Amino acid sequence: MTVCWIALAALVIYLFWRFPQLRKTWYLPKRHGFVALMYHHVGVLQDPQEEQFPFTVRPEMLERQILFLKANGYYPLSLAELENARKTGKSTVQKPVMLTFDDGYEDNYTALFPLVQKYQIPVLIFLITDRIGTPGYLTWDQILHMQASGLVAFGSHSCSHRRLRSLSDEEIAQEITRSKQILEERLGHAVTAFCYPFGAGGFDKRVRPQVFKAGYLLDFSTKKGVNPWPWKGKSTLRRAFPRGGETLFDYHLQLTRGMSKL
Ligand SMILES: [Zn+2]
Repeated sequence: MTVCWIALAALVIYLFWRFPQLRKTWYLPKRHGFVALMYHHVGVLQDPQEEQFPFTVRPEMLERQILFLKANGYYPLSLAELENARKTGKSTVQKPVMLTFDDGYEDNYTALFPLVQKYQIPVLIFLITDRIGTPGYLTWDQILHMQASGLVAFGSHSCSHRRLRSLSDEEIAQEITRSKQILEERLGHAVTAFCYPFGAGGFDKRVRPQVFKAGYLLDFSTKKGVNPWPWKGKSTLRRAFPRGGETLFDYHLQLTRGMSKL
């Protein structure tokens, strides 16, 4: 009997190794809740071997994803709506999702913003304050133009995008509070959302309390999954990660399982 189980396990491992499509999450149970989607670049990369390929969603694919959300009854939340749900512990929104973009790349203005305006869809962009206005990243003019639309909100992704848990307490506080101050000065209002550089590996029990001590209300990680809804802020927010090159079926898996593959 034991031999049978070992043979079966070996067969399953072989099949998973041989056929990558089996590693998709379609056989996991559906999860209901709040899905925060993590994007980075919006643009066109041809070579799947390029380092940024998984982090780059084509504009036409992003448009299809937005249409998929609309067609399937998903509700794209604004940051203000998420804050309100956290504050009150209540929401009547069904199937809430949030589109978040890390690092503040310039293509968020040139390729994402036209779609935001076309579909009037709210998004949240996490900025690395040291990189604003440097080549390839958003400028303050672009940031303020997007903010003026009322559709684009901004959060902090630290000052320098270093792995916070590898820094001293003083350096961590500096990364978290200084970036907040810089953004608040230029944006003209409180900045309430923080996103850890390097996501799941970027924070620990030492880092997270500092985020809330600095006055943030929401912290986003790269831990995969679906969040409870209404969100009460007991842990860091998980995010699903739609990669460049994925299909709409993968997107469906991201939205219903919090991940498209294991
Ligand atoms: Zn980042």
